[in-house]
Amino acid sequence: MSVSLLGGTYPVRVSIEATPEVLSGLQQWRELPAAQQPHWPDPEELRHVTAQLRDFPPLVFAGEADSLRDKLAMAARGEAFLLQGGDCAETFAESTADRIRNKIQTILQMAAVLTYGASLPVIKMGRMAGQYAKPRSSDNETRDGVTLPAYRGDAVNGHPFTEADRIPDPRRLLGAYQRSATTINLVRAFTNGGFADLRRVHQWNRGFTANPAYARYEVLAAEIDRAMRFMRAAGVDFEALRTVDFYTSHEALLLEYEAAMTRIDSRTGDPYNTSAHFLWIGERTRQVDGAHVDLLSRVRNPIGVKLGPTTTGEDALTLMDRLNPDGEPGRITFITRMGAGKIRDVLPGLVERVTSDGRPVTWVCDPMHGNTITSPSGYKTREFATVLDEVHGFFEVHQALGTVPGGLHVELTGDDVTEVLGGSEEVDDAALARRYETLVDPRLNHQQSLEMAFDVAEMLRG
Ligand code: PEP
Ligand code: MN
Repeated sequence: MSVSLLGGTYPVRVSIEATPEVLSGLQQWRELPAAQQPHWPDPEELRHVTAQLRDFPPLVFAGEADSLRDKLAMAARGEAFLLQGGDCAETFAESTADRIRNKIQTILQMAAVLTYGASLPVIKMGRMAGQYAKPRSSDNETRDGVTLPAYRGDAVNGHPFTEADRIPDPRRLLGAYQRSATTINLVRAFTNGGFADLRRVHQWNRGFTANPAYARYEVLAAEIDRAMRFMRAAGVDFEALRTVDFYTSHEALLLEYEAAMTRIDSRTGDPYNTSAHFLWIGERTRQVDGAHVDLLSRVRNPIGVKLGPTTTGEDALTLMDRLNPDGEPGRITFITRMGAGKIRDVLPGLVERVTSDGRPVTWVCDPMHGNTITSPSGYKTREFATVLDEVHGFFEVHQALGTVPGGLHVELTGDDVTEVLGGSEEVDDAALARRYETLVDPRLNHQQSLEMAFDVAEMLRG
């Protein structure tokens, strides 16, 4: 933008404002049924907190969300592949430099292997820098005759089973913003400051395959090695591979927080949710006439929706009508979480129905949430083999239909926890007790995450 003044042309700052219709539309969710919201005890305090949040700077820039939308459109066409990973629930206590670095490192290592296996650019996205709220199957939890509100994530209440911790506290929303900001700051520093250099990432992967437990992936690692040497010999500019784009995402669950972080893009006058690049709507909150779908229908970010095994083609297309009526490429990602035992039966019909509609969708596989079990010793866990089986089923279904498997959505951590059974290092039921740290769902540990990436890469390269 520029203006002519006194014979010269001078650039000026122009801020486009939202229309009154857009602004009132952003309040519409308040009139609608909203599932899974905490019972905040003090409305006045909540208002005070959300007023502060509205004054805090955005965590992401609208232009970044636009670039991500373009990349997800590529993933829908088979020109890129999404890797989305991170904790089921981030916690305030674990938003430390080491934990964040380990998670980023794990995702970068997986992405390097998948890039080779798929021969495609991999879009790297954390379930990070905002994944602080959880939907729960029941509002309350009872222990020894005492009933308290269920833990809903550090953005809402504390995990210890005491009244002081479990009563929802809106000031925790400020804590969630603060951890999101410090986490995304570190994400940007690591991914732009040299930590993400492809040569380093490859060396880490060589360290992984040097472990005899993973010897079967040595062939693939050696192939990648040769490809790296070829690139060097051919004069590839490795300096350009020192940085990567890394996107943030979380479940858009707490409407007061998400609404407060929704801002008007001064370039266009359009609303964006500036708490993360990508937001998804969970299986429990995707009611087509509900508040979550309404609020997210009004922002320009790319949006995901989790689809469980009972989802019908009609459900999916009604969501499409609400969230992407014009069929904008990259706007909507369907994250299917069917369960390994069901995916081969239920996914084909759903994909066929949506595909016949014609509006583009990015199909992503969450192989975690349909495969949660309780171990004999009582831990909420998953079997690594079952998780991998769902991933294989996902690729088989898309291959049979001639549709595009666009990515993976995984619960993982960069640390050596023992929460998921199996893998080549054979975490067994007795081992779960050793380092079971998650407050909600079990995560693949660093090694299991890499093993999944190598397995998928082997399958993709044929
Ligand atoms: C989650 O991703 O942690 C989650 C609760 O998933 P879903 O909505 O698919 O159950
Ligand atoms: Mn989970």
